[in-house]
Amino acid sequence: MSGKDLAGKQPRAVVLVSGGLDSATVLAIARAEGYDCHTLSFDYGQRHRAELSASARVSRSLGAVEHKTLSIDLRAIGGSALTDEDIAVPEAQTPGIPVTYVPARNTVFLSIALGWAEVLGALDIFIGVNAVDYSGYPDCRPEYIEAFEKMANLATRAGVEGHRLNIHTPLMELSKAEIIRRGMALGVDYAETVSCYQASSDGLACGRCDSCRLRLQGFAEAGVADPTRYAN
Ligand code: ZN
Repeated sequence: MSGKDLAGKQPRAVVLVSGGLDSATVLAIARAEGYDCHTLSFDYGQRHRAELSASARVSRSLGAVEHKTLSIDLRAIGGSALTDEDIAVPEAQTPGIPVTYVPARNTVFLSIALGWAEVLGALDIFIGVNAVDYSGYPDCRPEYIEAFEKMANLATRAGVEGHRLNIHTPLMELSKAEIIRRGMALGVDYAETVSCYQASSDGLACGRCDSCRLRLQGFAEAGVADPTRYAN
C-alpha cells in the first residue's frame, strides 16, 4: 500500500500496458493501491494494432491519468514470431522458450518506463509479468525483476539521491484464474482486452495461439464466462 508523497498528493506510478488481460489487472491493482497511474504502451512492430487501441481503451476505463504510446520498431532486429513475419506464431505448445519470445523486450520496455518515471518523479513501476501460467520467457522471472530493480537504483538520479525505485509485479505468483478473479473484483472489463498474438485488426482473437490458450484456460478455471471476441 502506498503512502502520500511529501507534497500530500497521490504517488505516481508508471504502469506498462499491453492491451492484454494481465496488464489491465495490474493497472486496476495499482489504482486500488492509490497510485496516479501513467500508462505506457509500445508500438514495437507487433503483428497487430488491436492491442494498441485496447491499451488506450483499458487506460481510459481504469482511470489512468495519462497514456502514452511510444514507437520503437523491434522489427529492425526481428528474431521473434511477433516481430518477423517470416516466423509463424505457433498454434501448439513447443518445448523450451517459444518463438514468440521477443529478444530483450521487457528490458527495453522497463528501461523506457524507468526513464519516464524519473521525469515524472515516480518511484514505482508496475509490470504484469507472471511466473505461473506463462510462456517460459526469461524476462518474466522474479530473479530478472530483482536484478532490473537493482540496476534501476544504480542507474538513476533518483536512486543515487536515496529515493528507492520499486518494480511492482503483483501478478508474479498468481495463476491465470486468480488474476481473472482479482481483476473482476476490481471491476476490470476483460471484453476490452486483447491477448491474442495474432488478433485481427479489429481485435478478434484466434483462439489457438499460446496466449489465447492460457487465457481460455484461465476463464474456464475461474468459472466465469469468457468475454473474448473470437474470429470463429
Ligand atoms: Zn490467439
